[in-house]
Amino acid sequence: MNAKTDETIVRLEDVHLSFGQTEVLKGIDLTVNKGNAVSIIGPSGSGKSTILRCINALVAPQRGRITVDGTRVDQLAKESERIALRKRIGIVFQQYNLFPHLNVLDNIVLAPTRILGVKRREAEKLARELLDKVRLSEKAGAYPGQLSGGQQQRVAIARALAMKPELVLFDEVTSALDPETVGEVLWVIRDLIRDGMTSILVTHEMRFAEEISDIVVFTENGRIVDQGSPEQIFHTFDNPRIRQFVGGLA
Ligand code: ADP
Ligand code: MG
Repeated sequence: MNAKTDETIVRLEDVHLSFGQTEVLKGIDLTVNKGNAVSIIGPSGSGKSTILRCINALVAPQRGRITVDGTRVDQLAKESERIALRKRIGIVFQQYNLFPHLNVLDNIVLAPTRILGVKRREAEKLARELLDKVRLSEKAGAYPGQLSGGQQQRVAIARALAMKPELVLFDEVTSALDPETVGEVLWVIRDLIRDGMTSILVTHEMRFAEEISDIVVFTENGRIVDQGSPEQIFHTFDNPRIRQFVGGLA
């Protein structure tokens, strides 16, 4: 299946955001097309997570426009509107934050039944399909504490997908994992992207970003310094700063 399109789903235009006196985003312009995978790379503190949080209406910019599938996110004044937006956008963090007292299946079923009003039976059917997708069918009855970090993160991905999001944001989802479980999580994300899920990933996994991205965005100090195809960003090195950052990859 090739779900890539020219249809824009996310657009940031001249987005400026400050926390107090500190300007953290200094004019971000970013376009993501439906079915594409966009990776955001760059040093710590450059504003990568803040970009994702803006898209999800967890923080509001002081200036600029953010549009997600026709919705002007920066103009959502009511919390109820922001909650409605967040139902359409999956987000997976470094910390998986599963509910420790619920088993894997119940962790996945919770939001669709409580928030979307999906019937338990139907939600469970989808949850089992998603567990199959993240290669954890045999863990439906396990509790988070019985799983490895990589397994828990895969459950967190399944939980995000259970809301049938239009796009998924991944914020350094492998950064807290033991090296031996990073690969299994990347496999799952790779499958999703191949299936055409629109994805925006903040990642330090340069090889992975190179392999799966349609566009790679390099941020530094609140600005997008460069963006382009993986080939342009990782191998052309017009920009010495990026060469320095990605270092040994070429
Ligand atoms: P990155 O994800 O690239 O590491 P962040 O988007 O998390 O960067 O943060 C960018 C900058 O904004 C950092 O200097 C960080 O300390 C600051 N920052 C992030 N969130 C807040 C907040 N809620 N209040 C104040 N400063 C913040
Ligand atoms: Mg971050």
